[in-house]
Amino acid sequence: METVGRFAPSPSGRMHLGNVLCALLAWLSARAQGGRYLLRIEDLDEMRCPRAFADLILDDLRWLGLDWDGEVPYQSERTALYEEYEGILRRKGLLYPCFCSRAALHAASAPHLSDGRVVYAGICRDLSAAEIAEKRKTRAPATRVRVPDEDVSFVDGVFGAYAENLARECGDFIIRRSDGVFAYQLAVVADDALSGVTEVVRGADLISSTPRQIWLHRLFGFEPPRFIHIPLLCDHDGRRLSKRDDDLDLGLLREKFTAEQVIGALACAAGLTETPAPAAAKELIAGFSWDKIPKTDLFLPDIFR
Ligand code: GLU
Repeated sequence: METVGRFAPSPSGRMHLGNVLCALLAWLSARAQGGRYLLRIEDLDEMRCPRAFADLILDDLRWLGLDWDGEVPYQSERTALYEEYEGILRRKGLLYPCFCSRAALHAASAPHLSDGRVVYAGICRDLSAAEIAEKRKTRAPATRVRVPDEDVSFVDGVFGAYAENLARECGDFIIRRSDGVFAYQLAVVADDALSGVTEVVRGADLISSTPRQIWLHRLFGFEPPRFIHIPLLCDHDGRRLSKRDDDLDLGLLREKFTAEQVIGALACAAGLTETPAPAAAKELIAGFSWDKIPKTDLFLPDIFR
């Protein structure tokens, strides 16, 4: 079966080095297998994701030499499609309106998981039709999906075996916000499945989303893709990079470095090469292997300090 990889950035800012590393590894893995590499813009939250940032991501990927295949879908234009999948869940009786405010969610004595998520305590799970009608008068609800008491496990391409009990460790989760915007979890599953993605490469911060997504894939009748989570990039104080570190976004990096310097340094940080010598992305395809990527956090290459 042909490998179909993808990079699915949320354009809420310019790409930082962590995003570049993810785009690079996903591209190398797909290309090393002679496969396709898709790009999708995850701009579900249009207020936070202006088109100008998406345009910059496309431009930055071209600059980096990471080419993609086919059209670029924008999630903000696919609401009707997500509604079809919402409909499938609704017909299975798995959806319910949730009126909880953020404050109420935190006040409820739900367990906090190690990654800071809160397991939903089920406050709105069994509201009567009358209660729902009453609450609708003052508040637009979000939509939650009821998860079963089921263990979902998978073998991650870098981190190995990973399992989660959906009811105990995840809880019913939101698939559509109260303002009508679809949640990432539903959109990502529909898009990956319908575009034929066979390999999802993304940051380790998303590993805990994967059991939910695998469960949704199966519920919709899809074969889940292979998942490979990559260790996060840290600065020398051990702090993980984020979009807030705007000193390291590509706008500034492009003024100081060549694409080959950025790619070469990241490849070395990820264990793919011995030295951070400048390299074009395509020169790294032949030597690419997931076996070289460590499980531990990666350190920001010295040239960016
Ligand atoms: N859009 C997400 C992000 O930029 C990535 C989603 C994914 O790769 O599944 O963090």
